[in-house]
Amino acid sequence: MSLAERDEKVIWHPYTQMKDPLPHVPVVRAQGVYLFAEDGKKYIDAVSSWWVNIHGHAHPHIAEKVAEQLRTLEHVIFAGFTHEPAVQLAERLLPLLPGDQTKVFYSDNGSTAVEVALKMCLQYWTNTSKARTKIIAFKEAYHGDTFGAMSVSGRSIFTDPFNALLFDVEFIDLPNAGNIEQLKSRINYLSNEVACFIFEPMVLGASGMLMYDAAYLDQLIECCQKHGILTIADEVMTGFGRTGKYFSCEALQNRPDIFCLSKGLTGGTMPLGVTTCNNKMFNAFLSEDKLKTLYHGHSFTANPVACAAALASLDILLEPDTLLNIKRISESHQAFAAKIGGHPKLKNIRQRGTILAMEWETGTDTCYLNGLRNQLYLYFLERGIVMRPLGNILYILPPYVISNEDLEYIYQTILQALKDI
Ligand SMILES: *Cc1c(COP(=O)(O)O)cnc(C)c1O
Repeated sequence: MSLAERDEKVIWHPYTQMKDPLPHVPVVRAQGVYLFAEDGKKYIDAVSSWWVNIHGHAHPHIAEKVAEQLRTLEHVIFAGFTHEPAVQLAERLLPLLPGDQTKVFYSDNGSTAVEVALKMCLQYWTNTSKARTKIIAFKEAYHGDTFGAMSVSGRSIFTDPFNALLFDVEFIDLPNAGNIEQLKSRINYLSNEVACFIFEPMVLGASGMLMYDAAYLDQLIECCQKHGILTIADEVMTGFGRTGKYFSCEALQNRPDIFCLSKGLTGGTMPLGVTTCNNKMFNAFLSEDKLKTLYHGHSFTANPVACAAALASLDILLEPDTLLNIKRISESHQAFAAKIGGHPKLKNIRQRGTILAMEWETGTDTCYLNGLRNQLYLYFLERGIVMRPLGNILYILPPYVISNEDLEYIYQTILQALKDI
């Protein structure tokens, strides 16, 4: 039996209707931006394997550090014990984050990083004995697939079967020049009932790489701070250089209380989630009263191998060449966006840092289930490019080591697709 046939017998794939799914490509190895399939075909990983890979696949520095860590300490319980990779990662990560972040809480992925952030905020209010339970989030937000993370995500086909069990959230529109005053009045009106405001800073990933201005987010955060509302920056997708800066929130004047990180954290090597906070948050849990403890943890909290991968990924991120690559990709995307601007088949083209998104005209209401999605997906796959359009929204979000030649090949293939589809 082939790998694909064996897969079909035993595997249930994520985000996949398992009745007649598109074929699953068997990948045997990967190097840099390339995935190599069992049949010898080579693919450019234009979506960084679900947005996680930032330095290219099978990076020798990360591989070496992970192997070394595996031979030294593969895992240890993180309650009552500690270890060098977890402490060092926190020591190196905190000063990179914009603002006054002082503590790291480890978990396993983006969704758990969000769950931890929400629990910190809600318990902050019970600990300080002023029960606030409302949460503000963007209508189009995506914060993960666990129940708390789903609750603060926009209601969509992803959440439909569970909507009845998701907790209520005050959803607001993405801010713009026209509605910013109205959004601020809404926050002022809710004021001291609100525990926290969670947001994806400047780029909303899963809902279609939607983008909005830092200046408006700054105003919303300022408005929240006026009422003591805690703010959570979900940088799970935008972190580690994706938007052109190390963190998207560097573009803000105001500083969030909490950051959620994952995806690029380990360079896309190992699952790891991080929730960081400032002393204002942390101190609210310090007490003689045991009930004020944050009773949360996962079996693999601060797994040393994952922390070692994150440390190795940070080494590479901080090399001057990496920033130059990020700048090179950003400028290249900008030039291409200018070139295809106004194309009749494209409704909208937007770009921030290494993310370029193109919204295809469909003639009908656009949605995730649009038939164009599979057509585009297969068109690029056949031409050796892995894209994963979000409905009619095609986007590129490559590892930072992608060459100019490979970028150019992707652009040329997009131009050809605009003729062919
Ligand atoms: C992907 C994503 C998550 C969820 O992360 P997982 O590791 O897939 O659980 C949360 N927030 C944002 C902004 C994301 O893009």
